[in-house]
Amino acid sequence: MKTVLYEPNQPVALATKHGKERAISRPLRAGLGFRIVVPENLDTDVLGTFSGEIERQGNPREAALAKARLGMKETGLAFGLANEGSFGPYPSSLFIPADYELLVFVDDASGFQVFEQILTTETNFAHTKISSFDELADFLPRIGFPSHAVIARPNSVGDGSEYQIIYKGLQSPEAVRQAVESCLDVSDDGLVHVETDMRAHYNPKRMRVIRRLAVKLARRLQTECPSCLTPGFGIADRKLGLRCEMCGLPTHLACAEIHACPKCDFQKEFPLPNAPQQADARFCQFCNP
Ligand SMILES: [Zn+2]
Ligand SMILES: [Zn+2]
Repeated sequence: MKTVLYEPNQPVALATKHGKERAISRPLRAGLGFRIVVPENLDTDVLGTFSGEIERQGNPREAALAKARLGMKETGLAFGLANEGSFGPYPSSLFIPADYELLVFVDDASGFQVFEQILTTETNFAHTKISSFDELADFLPRIGFPSHAVIARPNSVGDGSEYQIIYKGLQSPEAVRQAVESCLDVSDDGLVHVETDMRAHYNPKRMRVIRRLAVKLARRLQTECPSCLTPGFGIADRKLGLRCEMCGLPTHLACAEIHACPKCDFQKEFPLPNAPQQADARFCQFCNP
């Protein structure tokens, strides 16, 4: 018999003003019966913005949690969700851009919070500096414009106020051209900074990643802790130390997944899916220093 984790149609606050319910509602309704409630008049920008006008507070986990709590406060619900994306180079290869997405679910009724995450190179995250609109001829098609919008701001206006002059959500060549012209008027180095608009409602590629993340979170919430039955049991860490095939010493490669409960201390090790039993001696500090 399967335990019923949540009441059908359980209202859950989703703190977003960028239409993320389009990606998150269905997977969580299908998987858990959640009814997603998006609070109106939610100003998540007070928690920081992508485009840099307001600096984000804390690390992505803290930012996601603060956002979820904001939505719960606004709706008076004991359950909340929030997503936070970060963009930058992929950890193992500095020239490939990556999208790191976090989704947090807070359950104040049972007293736990659980995070799910995706790190993917499936992103159009990019920026460029130009001195005329025509220089965007390669950049715009490459980032998927116009279905994916861009942001423009003067590269420098001398007094450090370049972040206050900003044109966001640009989705037509004419809008981009006008924004570039306006930025050039005030740019003191003759350059305009143009970047991909990473807000979910202006970035279908990101919206798809968030949807995949919501499916992952739904699966995790369907898994109960074997010890205390709290939902959200799942991968929390990787255990390093896969043994070398030649000498048997531990390497820095992962040898197991550690699954943990979001509420109690229960943990369990699982073998890595599709992983070798032993490490290739190439990765051994002793055999191949
Ligand atoms: Zn070895
Ligand atoms: Zn537990």
